[in-house]
Amino acid sequence: MKSQVQPKLIIHGGAGSSLHGKGGLEAVRRSLYAVVEEVYALLLSGVNATTAVARGCQLLEDDPRFNAGTGSVLQSDGQIRMSASLMDGASSRFSGVINISRVKNPIDLAQFLQTAPDRVLSDYGAAELAREMQIPSYNALTELRLQEWIQERQDNFKRTMAGVVAEPELLETSNAGRGTIGVVALDAYGKLAAGTSTGGKGFERIGRVSDSAMPAGNYATGYAAVSCTGIGEDIIDECLAAKIVVRVTDGMSLKDAMKKSFAEAHEHQRDLGAIALDANGAIAWGKTSQVILAAFHDGVQIGDTLELPEGTEVGCTVEC
Ligand code: ASP
Repeated sequence: MKSQVQPKLIIHGGAGSSLHGKGGLEAVRRSLYAVVEEVYALLLSGVNATTAVARGCQLLEDDPRFNAGTGSVLQSDGQIRMSASLMDGASSRFSGVINISRVKNPIDLAQFLQTAPDRVLSDYGAAELAREMQIPSYNALTELRLQEWIQERQDNFKRTMAGVVAEPELLETSNAGRGTIGVVALDAYGKLAAGTSTGGKGFERIGRVSDSAMPAGNYATGYAAVSCTGIGEDIIDECLAAKIVVRVTDGMSLKDAMKKSFAEAHEHQRDLGAIALDANGAIAWGKTSQVILAAFHDGVQIGDTLELPEGTEVGCTVEC
């Protein structure tokens, strides 16, 4: 296949309330930039969008700072259950796993399922697949997330979600937050893909299903690709990722699709965020929450959304 397009990349490490301490913010920026650099280099070398997205998700899952893979939040019963999905825009093919435990990289299973006849597996079936794939058993628990859960148990689970990122200094102060990860890429052949991976909201009921392994939270066609973060129930109610992508697929510009979708989410008092790319190379992000932790590569330089002016809900690169 001939390459002809300038690759684009945007990734996120969740959305939520502000990061308070600057220390947390700089550490998050470093983590995000390292992933952007590695994955953008892959795209430049000709790796396709879906493979690059899966690699980006792996890297973010392996960073204990984010709520996916290692560093996932604990559910109400103290267990970790993770969900991840991958959508290849060119084939419009969605795959994912819901509430899987004891694997290092849930995105690996979503990637395997891309070409399987049964493409979304939940807990028991996902565990069976991990066994068939001979994926070694892995404990994703970190000390910080355990402490967070113990603290919440003492407070009788008053918080409805865990912290946006796992930072010692944020443990007591961040009272709302998400921390899911997502990657959206446009490759050198003009193809799009989106991937999302999460430990869930934290402290949720057993069996609760996250938006991250649904088209509401992760969706792509040949025209646009979106990964969401925030309160899963809000994302599902808005059907946010699919809504934005379908609007672009039907002819709306990415900027207008983001503006319209986020105006609706705002009106409905949702708490969420999203990152997006279109096939023309426009990069966009949006949020109704205080912050969205996103970083991108526009072909020239790396940028991020960590310190947006207050009240900014939707942002777009010039090509939007
Ligand atoms: N959307 C995820 C969920 O509700 C949480 C997150 O984005 O951090 O499971």
